[in-house]
Amino acid sequence: EIRVRFAPSPTGPFHIGGARSALFNWLFARKMGGKLVLRIEDTDLERSSRESEENIKAALKWLGLNWDEGIDVGGEYGPYRQTERLELYKKYTDQLLAEGKAYYCYCTDEELEAERQALSAKGQMPRYMGKCRNLTSEQIEQYKAEGRKPTVRFRVPADQQILVRDMVRGDVVFDSNGIGDFVIVKSDGIPTYNYAVVIDDALMKISHVIRAEEHLSNTPRQCLIYDALGFTQPTFGHISLILGKDRTKMSKRHGATSVDQYRQLGYLPEGIDNFLALLGWAPNSEQEIFSMEELIQAFSMEHVAKNPAVFEIDKLNWINQHYMRQLDEEAFFAAAKPHMVAAGYMTGDECGEKLEWLKRVVATAKEHVAFAAQIPECVAMYFSDEFEFENAEAAAVLQEESVPTVMNMLFEELPKLEVLDGPAVKAAFKAIQKATKLGGKAVFMPIRVALTGNQHGPELAEMVPLLGLERTEARIRASLA
Ligand code: GLU
Repeated sequence: EIRVRFAPSPTGPFHIGGARSALFNWLFARKMGGKLVLRIEDTDLERSSRESEENIKAALKWLGLNWDEGIDVGGEYGPYRQTERLELYKKYTDQLLAEGKAYYCYCTDEELEAERQALSAKGQMPRYMGKCRNLTSEQIEQYKAEGRKPTVRFRVPADQQILVRDMVRGDVVFDSNGIGDFVIVKSDGIPTYNYAVVIDDALMKISHVIRAEEHLSNTPRQCLIYDALGFTQPTFGHISLILGKDRTKMSKRHGATSVDQYRQLGYLPEGIDNFLALLGWAPNSEQEIFSMEELIQAFSMEHVAKNPAVFEIDKLNWINQHYMRQLDEEAFFAAAKPHMVAAGYMTGDECGEKLEWLKRVVATAKEHVAFAAQIPECVAMYFSDEFEFENAEAAAVLQEESVPTVMNMLFEELPKLEVLDGPAVKAAFKAIQKATKLGGKAVFMPIRVALTGNQHGPELAEMVPLLGLERTEARIRASLA
């Protein structure tokens, strides 16, 4: 049976890399007809919080990544929060201690630090050199009398080649001599990540461990524990690092890094999922837009790349824009609303004609934004009559000789229209062109610049009815002044 897990540590904002790991596990489970388990790794008591756990769950739900077993939904192998599994770990610790595969270490932080520094000074890799490996009972009594609280260390066997069979990276071999005896239980009785993760993955019958490459260096330690406890190792798959555009590890310097930030900017879950799927995985084809259903069909671990994935915000924007365009008018307006309210363009309580007008205004942004937070800027011209010319070239348009004639005719034509709608505005422009014998551009461009300060932008026939007669005239008058 295929069983995978996503095992976040609830220690802060839910990182986009975590979401990518969750997505790959989800896709693999769905593709293979397997199960996805959600386990919370909260052994870092100081940094873990329920708030962060809630935030992760909410983000997973928002992204449509449901889990079959685990926190909230339950299952056969719970509890699914590590701090609720301490009894279980203890049983295995006792076993390892009894078999001599682990031992108590009484070294203090200061002693360990001194050892690290001494090794570094000699140019050697800092690691625990095994001071407490073979303590006599007198030494142990002495340490206890001093009130020292021991950690439990795993006794790493010497001269072993540790083979990690990885779906993405192939066979990776580690030398056990490079790994010092490492702590599996801290002095407060809480297990470390490398230890708890093995017991949990084994007891939860996880068949494939798919996680970020950052953990590859932990894997040999985990393999040693699997062997020491007589557990069968799962198949591993370490997915590539995510780099920023400058090819350094993705961090806050590169912009938004948490799922929440993207949600708040008004990205769509479909866009994020689609983009994340392509971070380290590529289909056989050139296809770039994928529905979740299509992703499940196309996904395979064989096409997960070893090379680091580069987080291209332009690509995310391009993909998200595709999904923004697919929203119907109601959904697009709903997406825009919080951003319009934040911009001060609406209160959210509008109704009747005002609401209808807002909807039409917002709809003009639909083809032009990558994510919803861009909408207010895109429609700003409907809310503020003040603007600057985009550049000198735009300002110069209004200095053309023919401009006063065009504007005067516009003042005549517009009030004559029975209804101020797109076709009527177009007809008025035609009439001006005909009477003045000017080309289209000589008519449209000064009007556009007078209304927006810009040489580019939405269709005038769309814009004028939304601005209304009064504001259109006022802006033109102001431009002539
Ligand atoms: N709690 C670990 C993390 O969030 C999980 C690593 C793993 O998947 O084994 O990085």
